[in-house]
Amino acid sequence: MKDTFGREINYLRISVTDKCNLRCRYCMPEEGVADLGHENILTYEEIHRVVEASAKLGITKYRLTGGEPLVRRGIVGLVERMKQTPGVEKITMTTNGILLPQLAEKLKESGLDRVNISLDSLRHDRYREITRGGDLDQAIAGINAAAKAGLTPIKLNVVMMKGFNDDEILDFVQLTLQHDYEVRFIELMPVGRAENDFAHGYMASEEIKARLPQLIPVEKQEGVAEIYQYRGARGRIGFITPISCNFCSQCNKLRLTADGKLKTCLHSEKEIDLKKALREGQPGDLEKVLTEAIRGKEEKHHLESGQAPISRDMNKIGG
Ligand code: SAM
Ligand code: SF4
Repeated sequence: MKDTFGREINYLRISVTDKCNLRCRYCMPEEGVADLGHENILTYEEIHRVVEASAKLGITKYRLTGGEPLVRRGIVGLVERMKQTPGVEKITMTTNGILLPQLAEKLKESGLDRVNISLDSLRHDRYREITRGGDLDQAIAGINAAAKAGLTPIKLNVVMMKGFNDDEILDFVQLTLQHDYEVRFIELMPVGRAENDFAHGYMASEEIKARLPQLIPVEKQEGVAEIYQYRGARGRIGFITPISCNFCSQCNKLRLTADGKLKTCLHSEKEIDLKKALREGQPGDLEKVLTEAIRGKEEKHHLESGQAPISRDMNKIGG
């Protein structure tokens, strides 16, 4: 269905947990998160009811995220149920990849279409530093497992941070020469209270492009990324520019948090309590609440004019 600004809202990102087996500095606090308590997070049954109701309203694309979606037990079963739901066309996942060697085949069999895997550095020490302890070899094993299972095309999410990993831009680009990956450079966003050194680390996509003079634009198919390629490369290079080139006018997304709040804009404090509608509402209420939410979707964020970061950290929203 269309929102009041004429945008077709057809995409729901579902965060299944705020927990994670890594601790990326820009995403979540070092000590991890307090347990939300079993009763405060949506059950898979409840998530599935949201999927059914939203699919009736024209949502066709779903992304599972977190926290780290693969740390929640039973995730394969959720994918399977979602895939059988009328109206659901595509299910993808954003993951750090660490658990993919065990789960990639099962996820593919259950109907997951493909994955985005986060990888901010190709150097062991830096990967360990940004993730506060992660092992690059495990993430790479995850990428290989996803490729083997056919969770393709694989997109690699790279948050580019000045002075931290910007000397690896060419190494990432090099990956696309040999592999059929889409490397996506993402601008660091000021979100939450995590150790997010936005003022110093932010790097606009234009700055990256300026270092890559031979990029060839590729015709856009879907989504908000600008896509390029190097001549003869197997893979592609994408730029996600939430800050420098605000793509709000094309935003087609809703987000569901693990504790049952619907967010119609990543950068807005507004949250709609779907858990209440799920647990206390009458039949049909869920669709009504979703319809109202879509109608009330914000026109745009105001980060460029000094809007303060929202209070939730990214692991509690789902990127
Ligand atoms: N754990 C999974 C992962 O890392 O892919 C899924 C959740 S994570 C919150 C989703 C994506 O959000 C990751 O690609 C991560 O790099 C990105 N992200 C987290 N905090 C961010 C921030 N402050 N700015 C830009 N991207 C961010
Ligand atoms: Fe975990 Fe993903 Fe956040 Fe890193 S970005 S801490 S892997 S949820």
